[in-house]
Amino acid sequence: MTLQIERIPVLSDNYIWLAHDPASGATAVVDPAVADAPIQRAAELGWRITHILNTHHHGDHVGGNLEIKAATGCTIVGPRADAARIPGIDVQVGDGDRYRLGTAEAEVFDVPGHTRGHIAFWFAAGEALFCGDTLFVMGCGRLFEGTPAQMWHSLSKLARLPDATSIYCAHEYTQSNARFALSVEPDNAALRARAAEVDRLRAANQPTVPGTLGQERATNPFLRPGSPGLRRTLHLENAGTVEVFGATRAAKDSFR
Ligand code: ZN
Ligand code: FE
Repeated sequence: MTLQIERIPVLSDNYIWLAHDPASGATAVVDPAVADAPIQRAAELGWRITHILNTHHHGDHVGGNLEIKAATGCTIVGPRADAARIPGIDVQVGDGDRYRLGTAEAEVFDVPGHTRGHIAFWFAAGEALFCGDTLFVMGCGRLFEGTPAQMWHSLSKLARLPDATSIYCAHEYTQSNARFALSVEPDNAALRARAAEVDRLRAANQPTVPGTLGQERATNPFLRPGSPGLRRTLHLENAGTVEVFGATRAAKDSFR
């Protein structure tokens, strides 16, 4: 059996993920904003926490690190490029590294842009991508410590993964992302259908994460800088890819 993945909603819009390898019993907490909720949920499931996987250093992704480590003795795995900012880090990983969670293997990607040391974990056999605040459902992270060119390069690495890959991002931002996406690509039929589905799910208090990479390629404006409709909206019909991506990110930053 491949990975079993459990969603834990915390704070206003964060998701902590538990990733469990049934063959070995290994269990990772991905981006623990807090400690109590994942410790309690793992106990309910009968899973023993053996690892923490951190995508980046922000408090809503590492806030539970030290308390979970003290309670479980788990191993903390995080970005080599940002090790000094990851509390309790034991194992540093970076682009192209493979890390084994029990029998499940993750490939690591450096995906700077949101922060300079952001990484993503891709479990190919489990068709699961833990991408923190880099790629969101119909959105992408703000550029706090990187340039549009860096973030585009980072997203391009993720966009090459198979269509069926599940996108386990760290926030439920989908509904506002969809409103922005519709504003810049109003004629995208797949986007309109998906936005309606998202509205239905949120009205029923249901999560919209994970989505799949195939859906993202069809609906996420940050993966679609070549889209003629997007370019028309931005008046950038003949611009380069990075310029269109950067303009899309800037438009989102000021979107209300
Ligand atoms: Zn962040
Ligand atoms: Fe975050």
